[in-house]
Amino acid sequence: MESCMAVQREIDKVTSKFDGVDRHSSVTLGDLIENLQSRLQELSEVPSEGELQPGHMLMLIESVRRIKDITSCIGQEHKDLHSSVSKVGKAIDRNFVSDFGAVVSDPNFESQDRKPLLNAVVCEHFLRQGMLDIAEQLQEDAGLTLEDVQKEPFLELHGILEALKLQELGPALEWAHNNREKLQSQNSTLEFKLHRLQFISLISQGFAKQNEALCYAKNLAPFALSHPRELQVLMGSLLYLRQGIENSPYSHLLDPILWAEICDVFTRDACSLLGLSVESPLSVSIRAGCSALPPLLNIKQVMQQRQCSGVWSAKDELPVEIDLGMESRYHSVFACPILRQQSTESNPPVRLVCGHVISRDALNKLANGNKVKCPYCPMEQSPSSARQIYF
Ligand SMILES: [Zn+2]
Repeated sequence: MESCMAVQREIDKVTSKFDGVDRHSSVTLGDLIENLQSRLQELSEVPSEGELQPGHMLMLIESVRRIKDITSCIGQEHKDLHSSVSKVGKAIDRNFVSDFGAVVSDPNFESQDRKPLLNAVVCEHFLRQGMLDIAEQLQEDAGLTLEDVQKEPFLELHGILEALKLQELGPALEWAHNNREKLQSQNSTLEFKLHRLQFISLISQGFAKQNEALCYAKNLAPFALSHPRELQVLMGSLLYLRQGIENSPYSHLLDPILWAEICDVFTRDACSLLGLSVESPLSVSIRAGCSALPPLLNIKQVMQQRQCSGVWSAKDELPVEIDLGMESRYHSVFACPILRQQSTESNPPVRLVCGHVISRDALNKLANGNKVKCPYCPMEQSPSSARQIYF
């Protein structure tokens, strides 16, 4: 943060200087142009056949001298700006680390087989954000081959989400209706919440919409068993249509947070239905990288002092744990208490008969023939009765 502030101070200096130069030059140039125009006016009044008077000659010489003075003055001011601008560059160099080579385990992103992968990831990110034109341009420039099938789900989701943000429920309702079975199989409340919002938007328009609201309530019937309490509330609100929902005990139904919530519910459920992560993998990687960089750079310094070669170990592990916060935790990990190593696919955690869990390698090391003694309880058992655990 300190580094950002230092650079910000330099940038402030430059912008204030720019403003000063801008103000000064527009005033001087304005004066000059005005002056020249009046001189031009004077000259145009001289008859075309007549000769120039000495006074006119003097006036012209004076004007030329003035133009030269002013242009050289403005030129000098412009040159002075350069030094201030280059100071910003130096401040950035001084305050930020530019060489991240040592903290990357595999710096080979540039290699020919990796580049298309990287481009595809960037392209997918733009598709997710609904920036179709940028994605298509990148696809063309990078020579990627993206099938329409790959693009369509993103475009559809984005279109629906945009409509939801404008409080238009139609496209989302249609989508939820078409995917009802799949949504139900993952216990989604999306369709119910969409119908509820549609109902609320009808009752919020008062008594005039009573019949329409009553007819629409039929759409809520399939959810009577799964959402009895919410349906009672919705039906109860009908009693207050005459005086207006906003003046009733049901005014909470008009809370705009319901609209913000439906966007989140839709994104989460639609992504999980399509087998996509809710957030763009690229954004997640960049966010994780940004939080991990400062500690990695600190480790790099320590490693250099101790003359170690790289931050990453041969097993692609870091010498310290870097906490990226709760939002970056996706699944549990298991570290074997015997070998003090994180479990992997080749060395998974196994549960012993007594209930204690260790890694398979540890089990193999502890096993003595067809007997193994649990290192914790210590119950004697057969290694073959240990069961693998999946997180
Ligand atoms: Zn045990």
